[in-house]
Amino acid sequence: MSDDLRELYQEVILDHGKNPRNFHEHDGATNEARGNNPLCGDQLVIYLQLDGDRNVVNASFLGKGCAICMASASMMTDLVKGRSADEAQSMFQAFHDMCTGEGDETALAEDMEKLSVLSGVREFPTRVKCATLPWHTMVAALKGENEISTE
Ligand code: ZN
Repeated sequence: MSDDLRELYQEVILDHGKNPRNFHEHDGATNEARGNNPLCGDQLVIYLQLDGDRNVVNASFLGKGCAICMASASMMTDLVKGRSADEAQSMFQAFHDMCTGEGDETALAEDMEKLSVLSGVREFPTRVKCATLPWHTMVAALKGENEISTE
């Protein structure tokens, strides 16, 4: 990867970190869960609105955390909107595998490609938890669990 490209990726992360999308409480939420990453201090709540067929009609989040965590939550809430619960779960798996190095960004579906900006975390094991926390929390919310911690 060229240095220019690396810089651009950083900018995407910082932009989402500073101006997160879907950063609000959601009154119509049917499912919500809290995620906690004590190692870094990331804490967030994921709000999901599921319809009767378990499609994610809406997704949002609130919380505080590092740029990686906020950027990941911001992109995730955009991506899972309009998906079925099963699709959201598969996206989690693909993203998780990319971050841990079990898979790579080329395995991501085309509409998930923007998540590859976060693939650099695999070189920093402690940051993997920052990137995956929102996703773990989203899956917990789908399952009706209220709380998860990375520890
Ligand atoms: Zn973090």
